[in-house]
Amino acid sequence: MARLVIASAGAHDGAGLAAALRECGAQVFARDATLEAIAAADFALIDGGALYDDGDESGAFSGAGLARRLSAPVLLALPASGGARTIAALARGLVDFDRGVAIGGLLLDNSLPDDEIGAIERLAGLPVLGHGTNFALDRIIELANSAPPLEMGGEVYLVGAGPGAPDLLTLRAVNLIRRADVALFDRLARSRVMDLIPERAERIYVGKRPGAHALAQAEISALMVRLAREGKRVLRLKGGDPFLFGRGGEEAEALATAGVRFEVCPGVTAAVGAAASALIPLTHRGHAQACIFVTGQGQDGPVGLDWPALIQPNQTVAIYMGLTNLEALMMEISARGADPDTPAAIVDNATRAQQRVLVATISTLAAEVRAAALKGPAIVFVGSVVTLRTKLLGEAKVVHKTPPPT
Ligand code: SAH
Repeated sequence: MARLVIASAGAHDGAGLAAALRECGAQVFARDATLEAIAAADFALIDGGALYDDGDESGAFSGAGLARRLSAPVLLALPASGGARTIAALARGLVDFDRGVAIGGLLLDNSLPDDEIGAIERLAGLPVLGHGTNFALDRIIELANSAPPLEMGGEVYLVGAGPGAPDLLTLRAVNLIRRADVALFDRLARSRVMDLIPERAERIYVGKRPGAHALAQAEISALMVRLAREGKRVLRLKGGDPFLFGRGGEEAEALATAGVRFEVCPGVTAAVGAAASALIPLTHRGHAQACIFVTGQGQDGPVGLDWPALIQPNQTVAIYMGLTNLEALMMEISARGADPDTPAAIVDNATRAQQRVLVATISTLAAEVRAAALKGPAIVFVGSVVTLRTKLLGEAKVVHKTPPPT
């Protein structure tokens, strides 16, 4: 017999439908149903407005959160005012708004004449399975029984956590972090971003541990897939932006191949965070018309980039992962024909309380970094924009000369 969950039903509380379904022997769970009940539901009745509402911090029982966790169809409750066109447009809008939710039909709060019902069904492309106190109970039960085999749909959030300062997170990142049932993290172990993970969430460190091997990329991907298949909302926190040198692309591929639902949330990438807090504009009309992000380290050693093409007068190059082999890298860059006097800077621990900035040239940067014993993470900028820092530091009344505490 059909099992129904009612979520955020608001004005259309579905009481009539619930009573009618109960009479047929259906099980009806209210909005405060347990996760197990939700998992067992054949379909849900959800208020249209609730699809826009991501609910409380956990998101667990919001209309949208709940609808996404069901593989069962959703019966959408809508206000029946404003005529067929308006109602149909509202329904279409909701279908387009949340493609993760399978909408099986509409429930309208007033009785409407047959021709209007017909018009709404045509325009919305969805059946009206109830209006006012009239419910097409047999069709609703049929809808419930046609639901695909139930599984608790888990999902993965690949979230960019930014370069370190927690207040550089996007609002979306915060929302996704707060929804997590389990969090996978590596570099961010000591970051205050971790404080935002809900208490109830399990935390799994997947980075390097002294004396123990770090999880290989394939193992991390497999773990995410397994947890999502268990129905969990898996948070994968990445430093900076997930799709810039963070292997987020590989993780997304693995999730897509496994058929796991996932979302990628952008983050402030290290170069952008470092540029802002070190006062090095990445482009500037008088200096650079392009900015290129490169890695200083390939999978197996030097990257073999076309440095002469990159180090150009009107171009800024931001080098990630350049600290370890900085000396060799700078030598290679000059050996390949770049002017050794090209301005270069390094920003260590950008946006964090211990941020340090050194301004030098291609030929002197490595020695300065060695003398300062920088430990990283650090980003290197090459190009004449670097010289603007001195000017901006001297002239600007910046709010934070040093980054805010992290
Ligand atoms: N996905 C990340 C980059 C990961 S690769 C992003 O978008 O920022 C790791 C490299 O990022 C480090 O070697 C370093 O070059 C850079 N990085 C990360 N955090 C940094 C920080 N707080 N300050 C300076 N560089 C940082």
